[in-house]
Amino acid sequence: MKVLIIEDEHKIANAIKKGLEQESFSVDVAFDGELGFDLASSEDYDAIVLDLMLPKLNGLELCRRLRQEENVHTPILMLTAKGQLEDRVNGLNAGADDYLAKPFAFTELLARIRALSRRPKQLLNDVLVCRNLTCNTRDFEVRRAGKKINLSKKEFALLEYFLRYQGKVLTKNQIINAVWNYDSDILPNTVEVYVGYLRNKIDRPFKNKEPLIQTVRGFGYKMG
Ligand code: CA
Repeated sequence: MKVLIIEDEHKIANAIKKGLEQESFSVDVAFDGELGFDLASSEDYDAIVLDLMLPKLNGLELCRRLRQEENVHTPILMLTAKGQLEDRVNGLNAGADDYLAKPFAFTELLARIRALSRRPKQLLNDVLVCRNLTCNTRDFEVRRAGKKINLSKKEFALLEYFLRYQGKVLTKNQIINAVWNYDSDILPNTVEVYVGYLRNKIDRPFKNKEPLIQTVRGFGYKMG
């Protein structure tokens, strides 16, 4: 387990580092937001502990940029000042996965980090795989049996959702909520149309292979 701590208060950062190392974690520390951002976007961590108030780049902005610009989905535990509900909401909106109010007990922090790092890897990975299809969510490249497949933005979002939940039956309403905005007027029929587009690209040209998208009659669809 490798953890990155981004915290400018040396005392807190060092205490967390020491505690985690005693639990056999490997730990990197960044004392400002810029270094933290560089490390978080270039190294592979199982979890990030991120302070909100940081010099050079604050925790919210750092989190938002990691998620949106770098497409880094490492679980983030955000540290906030006690009772600042707004900070927590902002943190979760910016892409943090959990938060912990200061001051906190180390055992609480440890439990939260363990819980975050246990989340299914498929939800965090950049490259999603189903049999001989690969989907790279960093550069939006999709290949099946080595052959490159061009998808529209919506088709890609649909494929990504299927891949992240492969093996599970997804209803049309679940698909609408995940791929389209809640407020858009999408009919279940539209899902069928888009699943059709996607099948035309990822399944039909590979006729000798078993289709990746299965229809589960009366329920929805399943991938894999
Ligand atoms: Ca701070």
